Amino acid sequence: MNALEVSDLSFAYGAREALKQVSFNLAAGRFAALLGPNGAGKSTLIALLTRLYDVQRGEVRVGGHSLQTSPLPALRQLGVVFQQSTLDLDLSVEQNLRYHIALHGLSRRQGSVRIDAELARQQLTERRHERVRALNGGHRRRVEIARALLHEPRLLLLDEPSVGLDPASRLALNQHVRQLCHEGISVLWTTHLLDEVQPSDDLLILHQGRLVASARADAVSQAHGGTLGSAFTHLTAAGVHP
Ligand code: ADP
Ligand code: MG
Repeated sequence: MNALEVSDLSFAYGAREALKQVSFNLAAGRFAALLGPNGAGKSTLIALLTRLYDVQRGEVRVGGHSLQTSPLPALRQLGVVFQQSTLDLDLSVEQNLRYHIALHGLSRRQGSVRIDAELARQQLTERRHERVRALNGGHRRRVEIARALLHEPRLLLLDEPSVGLDPASRLALNQHVRQLCHEGISVLWTTHLLDEVQPSDDLLILHQGRLVASARADAVSQAHGGTLGSAFTHLTAAGVHP
């Protein structure tokens, strides 16, 4: 079963169309790079997938559950790291996670087990009692990822998680998140930076609200001049997709 199925999804802010008939699937354990320049509609898509906005046209299924007709089981399969950090800098790493344990309806005991597991997976066990303010940007993002995985979702959405990080931390975080896929979690990683995409990724290129590529990244490159750069330039050229 696919972790995510998006069919014919369109969305408008009033008269302004932000997404136009977007369709794609994401299989279990796959890393999908959602690539698009500013204003392409990436955050709008994340907002629809997380049900911040109601779907106006089309359908979203998470782990086989329709987001519209079965929102709770659908959202249960989903973890999200939003574009803007939502950590409390003055709370410790563990305290930032603890509150979400209660939100997910887990007991304190279950919560401790889940917190241990996710901090270990993010290699943050030794930092658990430190205030988040003391952590660098990459580690703060990993606290958010740990928090997003507390309820053991099958799909992790990240909206431009590398913005604001230096180049080395950016790529380290990207590599780190890829390891989740080996454990069967599917990842939708949003970015406007080509070097965060690898040849074997599922590549989704969004341009002016339209999905202009949806295939393995190496296949997309091959079809448009051989490199991802040439493909991106070609596919996002003004006027190519009216
Ligand atoms: P991205 O995340 O790829 O930068 P967004 O999804 O934020 O793109 O925006 C897509 C389009 O929708 C842009 O043209 C943007 O100006 C517009 N938009 C985004 N949010 C709103 C909003 N709340 N009201 C009106 N227009 C919006
Ligand atoms: Mg955005």
